[in-house]
Amino acid sequence: MAIIDPFVMHANALKSRVTRPNDVTMKVKYCGICHSDVCQIRYEWGASEYPMVPGHEVVGVMKEVGCEVADFKVGQTTGVRCMVWSCQTCESCDDGLEQYCPKKIWTYNGVDTDGTPTYGGYSTEMVCDRKYVLGIPENCPLDAASPFLCAGITTFSPMKYYGMTEKGKSLGVIGLGGLGRMAVKCAKAFGLRVTVFSTSPGKEKESRELLGADDFIISTDKEKIKAAESTIDNIIDTVSAVHPVDVYLGLLKTNGKFIMVGIPESPLQFSPNSVISWRRCVGGSLLGGVAETQEILDFCGIYHSFELQQQMMNCWIVCCIQTLEAFCGCNSECS
Ligand SMILES: [Zn+2]
Ligand SMILES: [Zn+2]
Repeated sequence: MAIIDPFVMHANALKSRVTRPNDVTMKVKYCGICHSDVCQIRYEWGASEYPMVPGHEVVGVMKEVGCEVADFKVGQTTGVRCMVWSCQTCESCDDGLEQYCPKKIWTYNGVDTDGTPTYGGYSTEMVCDRKYVLGIPENCPLDAASPFLCAGITTFSPMKYYGMTEKGKSLGVIGLGGLGRMAVKCAKAFGLRVTVFSTSPGKEKESRELLGADDFIISTDKEKIKAAESTIDNIIDTVSAVHPVDVYLGLLKTNGKFIMVGIPESPLQFSPNSVISWRRCVGGSLLGGVAETQEILDFCGIYHSFELQQQMMNCWIVCCIQTLEAFCGCNSECS
């Protein structure tokens, strides 16, 4: 597509660093397209550096292994996600929560430990410190693995941390973009009852038939929203556009949790009474740690059949197309 040509042109002109003793070099096979790639390319978060090589759901085959690396072998399938470094000494790093390390280095649009810019996975090769490289389970197709590295872990991590995985409990998923789709699939794997909330009626068939959602409610359907009040145990809000919050808080039971993983451009508002009178909790979550990301890859390797993986891949392709459409200005949102 013509619009991404400038980035591809720069990517071809840029070289990765040589493989250091603790590095591995990966031949890139697949790289997901995340909504945040579009935000960064468009300077929507106000901190983009150009030339930029986006891409942080990188999957490939190990091409070269540094002399100090003992647990990866040439030819092994591996992945790199949003981070390529953290300090390894702070409390967050000690707790396996490297994504909250104040000195973390992003996979692209960051500054590496040697002062050079970091470049992402829309490339032919990638060099990364071994500590930030994940192993891809043998039964997981490489193309299907890539969305787990950002969208998957971003929804899996809060479900686990906030205690939202108890079989039989209900989960509302707001928005059906990349995050929303992965949230539904993870929730179903945990045995949750899932209701998808979306502004797009066209997503009902996919939600129910492909992703396995139990219910689908159009966010503007006042009657159905009213009927769903105080019926849902927990909600994950994946929408990255400004949207009302009180209406969704009202859907939670007493003690319900409302967890945000999307980042709108402007602040969201809600009434304190929407949480106080039902002891509801509003929280947030960013990505996941290295070990936890390996956990979701292994989890999906164990719990999802090849057929399901392919279904997830099909969902991912749909979202990628929508993301690119949004990027091209054809469509204003992917929720
Ligand atoms: Zn992402
Ligand atoms: Zn740290």
